[in-house]
Amino acid sequence: MKTIGLIGGMSWESTAHYYAILNRETARLRGGLHSAPVIVHSVDFAPIEAMQRAGDWDGAGAQLAQIAASLEAQGCGVIGLATNTMHICAPQIVAALTVPFIHIAAPTADALLADGIGTVGLLGTRFTMEQRFYIDGLEERGLEVLVPDIGITNLNGIIYEELCRGIVREESRRLYVDAIARLAARGAEAVILGCTEIGMLIDDSVSPIPTYDTTELHAKALVAAALD
Ligand code: GLU
Repeated sequence: MKTIGLIGGMSWESTAHYYAILNRETARLRGGLHSAPVIVHSVDFAPIEAMQRAGDWDGAGAQLAQIAASLEAQGCGVIGLATNTMHICAPQIVAALTVPFIHIAAPTADALLADGIGTVGLLGTRFTMEQRFYIDGLEERGLEVLVPDIGITNLNGIIYEELCRGIVREESRRLYVDAIARLAARGAEAVILGCTEIGMLIDDSVSPIPTYDTTELHAKALVAAALD
């Protein structure tokens, strides 16, 4: 099995979930005491978040590309970036690597298409919902993507003010469930939890339509690629 290089810390709350899933999935597939060979490079999120707000995607991308290259130099055979939003910088990261980079949207699209979903809601940060970098990749795979028509500021705020700080509030869960219900009313057959922290708040037990959790799908895809 190849060593997985995980660029994490965005936020560390979701990277902790990645770490658990990488190991559980490896044990499930390989049995016994097998666990995932993984090197996690966990960044300080505050300067990254400041670069997001400033729109300095080139600066952030340069930093993440350097980390990716260092993970490859340390022997990682497959690389993942444990945040949807920072996939804005995916082209810079891919350019710095010779080993495969597993894009978070790829296993998500694979799972939706395998389940016969045609129209899907997308929840994430405002960058993920309002810019094209994420939606384009899904649409190229033939999916119709709906984002909330109201409440984006609140949904985005819950990610940065609460979930990335480990705070899970019932009131915020209700806001997310309402947003999913509105997407469903507009025709979404399922919803992408397109921010790696949303799984802390929402799962199939509270959502009116099936959820596709990018953290879980991406972590499992990284294990599959490492075993390939
Ligand atoms: N983890 C988040 C995501 O998946 C948000 C934090 C970030 O901006 O990286 O988009």
